[in-house]
Amino acid sequence: MKRNLTCIVCPRGCALEVEISEGKCTVKGNACPKGETYGIDECTSPTRMVTSIVRVSNREDTMVSVKTSCPIPKDNIFDIMSKIRNTEIEAPVKIGDIIIEDLYGADIIATKEIV
Ligand code: SF4
Repeated sequence: MKRNLTCIVCPRGCALEVEISEGKCTVKGNACPKGETYGIDECTSPTRMVTSIVRVSNREDTMVSVKTSCPIPKDNIFDIMSKIRNTEIEAPVKIGDIIIEDLYGADIIATKEIV
């Protein structure tokens, strides 16, 4: 099986061709080793950083931006987004505050300060 991917590790965006045969991945088109790692990971266990927003209940029309502390398995994104959507917090919030702890191995952390 062959898959054509664009490496998203850096802005160069190399066009990758990943061939999976007999349990082995071969990556072509990468200009550096990071592209090989990305291609293999994307075809075997894809992960993503998730960014979103959480409602601040004690401020009118205010949301705080959040992100996962590390990439999480792509298959779990919808569940994580659902949990984030159903979460409300109270200000004050500092950048780096943990909003939700340990979702699939990642914390949801604030990326904006609300005083
Ligand atoms: S393969 Fe290397 S140079 Fe090409 S996009 Fe990926 S990280 Fe950038």
